[in-house]
Amino acid sequence: MITAIAVVGAGQVAAVAARTLRRRGFDGRIDIIGDEPHRPYQRPPLTKEYLTGGDEDGLFLLPEHWCERNDVHLRLGSPVAAVRPGRVELAGGEEVAADRVLIATGGAPRRLPGVTGERIHYLRTLDDSERLRPLLRPGARILVIGGGFLGSEVAAAARAKGAEAVLIEALNAPLARVVGADIGAVCAELYRSEGVEVHLGEQVESIDDAADGVVVTTATHRFEGDAVVVGIGMVANTGVAERSGIAVDNGILVDEYCRTSMPDVFAAGDVANHFHPAYGHRVRVEHFDNASKQAAAAANAMLGRGRAYDEPHWCWSDQYDHTLHYTGHAASWDEVVVRGSTADHDFVAFFLRDGVLRAAFGIDRGGEITAARQLIGRRVPVHVLKDEDVDLEEQL
Ligand SMILES: Cc1cc2nc3c(=O)[nH]c(=O)nc-3n(C[C@H](O)[C@H](O)[C@H](O)COP(=O)(O)OP(=O)(O)OC[C@H]3O[C@@H](n4cnc5c(N)ncnc54)[C@H](O)[C@@H]3O)c2cc1C
Repeated sequence: MITAIAVVGAGQVAAVAARTLRRRGFDGRIDIIGDEPHRPYQRPPLTKEYLTGGDEDGLFLLPEHWCERNDVHLRLGSPVAAVRPGRVELAGGEEVAADRVLIATGGAPRRLPGVTGERIHYLRTLDDSERLRPLLRPGARILVIGGGFLGSEVAAAARAKGAEAVLIEALNAPLARVVGADIGAVCAELYRSEGVEVHLGEQVESIDDAADGVVVTTATHRFEGDAVVVGIGMVANTGVAERSGIAVDNGILVDEYCRTSMPDVFAAGDVANHFHPAYGHRVRVEHFDNASKQAAAAANAMLGRGRAYDEPHWCWSDQYDHTLHYTGHAASWDEVVVRGSTADHDFVAFFLRDGVLRAAFGIDRGGEITAARQLIGRRVPVHVLKDEDVDLEEQL
């Protein structure tokens, strides 16, 4: 009989897992143990609504009265050291008994070695966003290193607040790792049309943080600004798993039921390098939708009602007046089919390998991305993908 479940990490996964456990009738004790001082909150607004001045109200995920009513115990500001059979060890020495443990420790920003200073910003937490947001104002010049989703959103937020934004990317296009150089170039054009200075193929060599400004130097340029935001990816927080002897490789290794290598210990969300049956290999993603769905899958698995977690991934990014969507997973492809107009920034790009749809990316095409999500792993004729008059829903 399961009498107590502990979740390590008080983020998106923890909130959804706790709600799922109660909804599924689990009436034992639930402890959520997090190292941040805040109640679980959503991170997507930290580069969007919250960063541009929105209030905190919509951020928090488990209201106090819900926790009280549902007997969910939040232990905040409490880093976990390790997980042992039947218990969780806190860094402060205390122990929490648990029959099942869910590790949901997320990740931390990848750092530029040796780069620190008042004007240097990373963005993962509410505190990070709070520190950055007063700096986004007319007259300010914000240097953003990294043109992934996070960096691109920060540049958009800077523009929204009337600041100058300079996007410095090492590859030859923003978002290139996800969508390749050609579609990435379409995004670069979009960003330029919104007033962002986009510099591509620029490897940062040094950052000098001085009293009157910051200077980023690459092989060919010297960029001056008021603040630098480094958005060069995330590293999974695997410390707890490693100290517990749980198998780790680019995240915590889990199967399609979120099970780690340690009995009764599960992992989900940004930290979980999970086997995905639809792709046939492991993958670790950093998407809100995955964190939520996988949290629910892990909660069910902990209760012995597990079902393989096999939905294709999906994420969104709000930038300017546009919403970008991506679904599926494609590390490589041999064909890209475009429906719509890249010149008008109104299109879907389908990524295929061996004629099979692996992923799709679109700007302001949420409906088609939702349909494409259900077509991932299937052969869909190119003319069907390309033709605006063919309803993708009809292919399902
Ligand atoms: C700025 C930002 C914007 C984003 N925007 C989007 C978006 O637009 N669309 C999208 O799809 N996704 C977005 N994401 C991704 C999404 O927010 C994440 O996928 C999601 O938060 C992952 O949830 P999680 O529970 O796995 O991790 P988290 O939400 O990161 O929670 C993990 C928690 O565990 C804590 N922790 C770590 N180690 C320990 C320890 N030893 N002991 C106790 N606690 C510990 C961490 O401090 C953290 O509080 C964004 C992420 C960020 C950072």
